[in-house]
Amino acid sequence: MKILVVNCGSSSIKFQVYDADGAQTLVKGIVAKIGEDGAYLAKETYGAKFKQETVVLNHRAGFDLMMKTLLNEEEVLRNISEISAVGHRVVHGGDVFTKSVLITEETIRKLEELTPIAPLHNPAILVGIKEAKRILPNIPHVAVFDTTFHQTMPSKAYLYALPYTYYETHKIRKYGFHGTSCRYISQKAAEIMGKSLEELKMVVCHLGNGVTVAAIKGGNSIDTSMGFTPLEGLIMGTRSGDIDPGVIFFLQQHVGLTIDRINDLLNRESGLLGISGVSNDMKEIEKRATSGDKRCKLAIEMFAYRIKKYIGAYAAVMGGINTLVFSAGIGEGSPSIRAMICDGLEFLGIQLEERENRDSRRYERIISTPDSKVQVLVIPVNEEEIIVMDTLAVAGLRSKWAT
Ligand code: ADP
Repeated sequence: MKILVVNCGSSSIKFQVYDADGAQTLVKGIVAKIGEDGAYLAKETYGAKFKQETVVLNHRAGFDLMMKTLLNEEEVLRNISEISAVGHRVVHGGDVFTKSVLITEETIRKLEELTPIAPLHNPAILVGIKEAKRILPNIPHVAVFDTTFHQTMPSKAYLYALPYTYYETHKIRKYGFHGTSCRYISQKAAEIMGKSLEELKMVVCHLGNGVTVAAIKGGNSIDTSMGFTPLEGLIMGTRSGDIDPGVIFFLQQHVGLTIDRINDLLNRESGLLGISGVSNDMKEIEKRATSGDKRCKLAIEMFAYRIKKYIGAYAAVMGGINTLVFSAGIGEGSPSIRAMICDGLEFLGIQLEERENRDSRRYERIISTPDSKVQVLVIPVNEEEIIVMDTLAVAGLRSKWAT
């Protein structure tokens, strides 16, 4: 049974065909820079990579190109009818969606109503849903949200101390993102350690271009670093993360920047890129830091320091931790950043096994010493697995893999 997973952004369509019987990805790819110069299609089929520049005027053309590509892959798809369902990754479900849902007219209407709090993401996703339904009209389409996993946060964690009416009227609150990743990681961690989710007090560090650190107690998210938007929290590739909101007033009143300019500054020019002055890419920053670049070294120190602060805070709110997980590009790939984050956290019971940690290959394993009170793990990101599982469950389908 084959499931198509779609992640539609404002200028890209990421896609993946997943074999739900063999539990493996058959092909994954992206149609990128839609409506821009240099649009291209890139894909990977059973490990074989392909990239081609092409003209893609709009999302409709992008979806047609995606479908044509999939049908050209004989070993993946012989006929469009082989696709049993489509799983759509949706960034923002607000507080309206607390679990994955079948996409009906009602779902689409509710998603449209959420557009004011997700102006960058949801309009593109609505276009994606419409186009995917045009191409595949007779099968179930399921929405899987990045926010729903964090809907278990208590109000003391998700409210901002603004006048309460702004929450009531405008729904301004912390939502949190990377929920699909956190859900996958927490389940996988329990499985690897042979424990039940109920007994785990876990901090998940999803360290990619976007960064989330989340507190997960008994399998439920009780706090998370991203907020009303993905800008809150940790230092990211190009996002500042937490800053004093007073800085924004100063930038406007005394530096003369417009609100749009400040938005760009905080989202696209800050973070690792802003501090290092050279790159948003941690691999590159680590390389330069090793050869003596002081600002790259500082960017890494700031990155690790802030994560350490969040781990401490989340350990406090959970009454200690017994599981710490590193995931995504930096979390999986950088032994030195994992070591920097854990350094000094022995008082919490965190004891890294140096030899296990030193391995930068990205595979799931435990990297703490056998007597460490906190089990520290590396778990590669696999959001698709959750999207496929939810799509099967919501669509009422049964595969050999997920029954
Ligand atoms: P995204 O959030 O876009 O999915 P990824 O999870 O792919 O991002 O993470 C991208 C980040 O991970 C980049 O900063 C990249 O440099 C970093 N990264 C990937 N591999 C390594 C590695 N071996 N060492 C350090 N950083 C790495």
